[in-house]
Amino acid sequence: MDQLEKKFIDLCYEEAEIGLVSGEVPVGCVFVFDDDNGQQKVIAKSHNRSNEFLSALHHAEFNCVQQVVNRFSSNYLEIFRKTTVIITLEPCIMCCRMLRMLQIKLVCFGARNDRFGGAGSVASIHNDSRIKCPSLNCLDGLDSNRSIQLLQRFYEQTNENVPNRTTTELKSLPENTNRDDYQLDSNPIQSSDHLFKATYKPMEFRCLVRINHQSESDLELLSNEVHINQFTNHPNLINIIRHFLLPDGLWYSIFPYSPFKSMDLICKPFGLPESLISIMLVDILNAVDYLHHNNIIHRAITGSHIVPFGDLNKSIKFVLTGLKYNYDMNDRNELQAFDYPRNADKILKCLSPEMLEQNIIGYNYKTDIYSIGILCCELANGIVPFDQMSPDCLLFYKIIGDTPRPLDSTCEEMKLFEEYANQVECTLQRRYRVYCKRKFSSEFQEFVNPSCLHGEQSRRMSAAELLEHCFIQANKQIINSHSSKLALLSQYLS
Ligand SMILES: [Zn+2]
Repeated sequence: MDQLEKKFIDLCYEEAEIGLVSGEVPVGCVFVFDDDNGQQKVIAKSHNRSNEFLSALHHAEFNCVQQVVNRFSSNYLEIFRKTTVIITLEPCIMCCRMLRMLQIKLVCFGARNDRFGGAGSVASIHNDSRIKCPSLNCLDGLDSNRSIQLLQRFYEQTNENVPNRTTTELKSLPENTNRDDYQLDSNPIQSSDHLFKATYKPMEFRCLVRINHQSESDLELLSNEVHINQFTNHPNLINIIRHFLLPDGLWYSIFPYSPFKSMDLICKPFGLPESLISIMLVDILNAVDYLHHNNIIHRAITGSHIVPFGDLNKSIKFVLTGLKYNYDMNDRNELQAFDYPRNADKILKCLSPEMLEQNIIGYNYKTDIYSIGILCCELANGIVPFDQMSPDCLLFYKIIGDTPRPLDSTCEEMKLFEEYANQVECTLQRRYRVYCKRKFSSEFQEFVNPSCLHGEQSRRMSAAELLEHCFIQANKQIINSHSSKLALLSQYLS
């Protein structure tokens, strides 16, 4: 470190400054090469250019690597082994892996990157023994305050430009937050007793704060949620901005702000039109496809775990939450899972029969597809199937293959209803009268069953196949039209 000249470090911060004025997260990077005569010279320098190219592959480190490869196309691997990388922020997991593969001599960085850092903060890619190449020498040797000040200037600047911060910007809050930084609205959200709308005072932005009492079984779910949050990054998956445990045993989790209710409440009392359901499904299937590609089973896809985000005048996306129930198949190299979620009482209705049976065959990611089928019924009917049924009845009906469906005039039950209409209570009467008057498309009914709710796991479609399903195709026009989509959503979300 002593040999690292101040001029190189200054050059690195200059790059970060250039990033700042270009509207990028201000991170600067310089590659310094040691030649055979003991001389040091700069062979590459760059700042983050991710926003410019709309690609995470333009992190400062990547840009520098590209410069070296272009400049020394015949012997760059040899060059990298004699190169010191100076960077104002701890490299992210991805860049850390790259620098390690290239066998960079030394990485010297400024502030810790507690959100994505791969050199010890979030993951220890630099010395993880499972990676079969020499470990990467990393040092947090630069002035971290200087880096943090730059980042703060960036967030102040975006605060002026963009009053409504996006999730991506919120990901990099300063570390030192505590309970007093959050001004909670007086009442908890909806039926929940632990989720609050709030304002983060130092930066005056809105967020959601969830407060859990740290009981032992909750702790396992919460750690599961934090674990998965580190490894997932998808626009349709909820993201924890920050979490902290206080000495009094309260666990605070901070989420991005949404002005809307969750879908289980939006679909009440009698359900939503299938076109709206198709719009939501595209977002949710993309998130589920992403999870499954990463060997993660969500295990709790249900209306209460889907929340719209955004602004009805601009754009809306649907986001999948409830990640605390997930199961990560990655760790164990398995094809079938035998792990069952804790505290599952709230999600029993969405679970597949094979999951409820807990038999020796186990279950796989198709259990999520079954839950998507139940979700469609919930949103179409305005009520979750098997509602108010005791767990043993529920299990029995699912195992004997009793499959719910979106209720409309074509259902067998409707004929029965006509016969017994006078004997059922009046709220149920009203419900059936609404159902009798409507008809869902055959494409939608097929999407739900057999494509999602088929009794055999292997016969259910995958998330990627469902995205190509004729039901989604039939709604392509509204899904692809920004204005008609917003017009439809406005009727139900506001
Ligand atoms: Zn990176």
